[in-house]
Amino acid sequence: MPTESQSPYLPFGENKNASWYGKDILSVKQFNRADLEYIFGVAHEMRGMVERIGTFDLLKGKILANLFYEPSTRTSSSFTAAMERLGGSVIPINEVKYSSVTKGESLTDTVRTLECYADVIVLRHPETGSAAIAAKAAKKPVINAGDGIGEHPTQALLDTFTIMEELGRLDNLTVTMLGDLKYGRTVHSLARLLSLFKVKLNYVSPDILRMPKEVMDEVAAKGIPQAEYSTLEKVLPETDVLYVTRVQKERFEDPAEYEKVKGAYVIDPEIMKAAKQEMIVMHPLPRVTEISMDFDDDPRAAYFRQMEYGLYVRMALLAMVLGKA
Ligand code: ASP
Repeated sequence: MPTESQSPYLPFGENKNASWYGKDILSVKQFNRADLEYIFGVAHEMRGMVERIGTFDLLKGKILANLFYEPSTRTSSSFTAAMERLGGSVIPINEVKYSSVTKGESLTDTVRTLECYADVIVLRHPETGSAAIAAKAAKKPVINAGDGIGEHPTQALLDTFTIMEELGRLDNLTVTMLGDLKYGRTVHSLARLLSLFKVKLNYVSPDILRMPKEVMDEVAAKGIPQAEYSTLEKVLPETDVLYVTRVQKERFEDPAEYEKVKGAYVIDPEIMKAAKQEMIVMHPLPRVTEISMDFDDDPRAAYFRQMEYGLYVRMALLAMVLGKA
């Protein structure tokens, strides 16, 4: 459980980025280092406020439409909690099967409807690019909560915030991403966002689940060293952040292919003996078998703390796009 401390970021209220008011959050490509410093400063302040007073009225009277066309536990409930901690309220549409979507309503019509009632829309959808389409149709801010195998920008923001809070820096780190790098949208966003910093990126995956060339090319263009491996052994000892991902079963066209790779890597206390003592293991969750529960009590296991950081980052983002930070 993270504890409150002096903000290492910009002080809350020193609003250098009032320009976030009304903005969509669609891709990590829209952020620079100064933006991250600002977001982390607000998130850090949100953490302090939650620890001190729990719920407060920064977004009193504001309404969030939480529109999820794909399953979600953390993203959906943390956006709900974020809005409610800020004194606002939520229209939850977690089961589009109970909405007019099953009557054939288009995404754009659904979004245009929800913005009549809400001030901001959080959208998760199975198609890459859907958040951008929704944002084009909507006048109110749209926040991408995962668009298929595309991006998951708020996850990457909470991931980098986690690294900052846990390790105190984003420069001079070796980050190893492990698992399904092809279909995992969180690693697509994270690799892009980390390319703003002086990092070394290792990608460890089965051959059929390698990081897409498009992402690697973008990261290479920023001068970031990247290397691909099929086993973890060689890179684990140098790793500062081990980012483990689930094999994305729902994205496979051929179930036999999934069966071949589903258990490719399992992190357990034995394997972690080869890692540094000062490093962290992260996972966007849900996990299936890729991290053994036997590792959960190791102080390096940061994945439950990571979820909590997500609340503060999402509070910060809501406050920013609604003009209150
Ligand atoms: N929860 C994350 C996502 O929505 C990771 C995962 O599902 O494996 O992308």
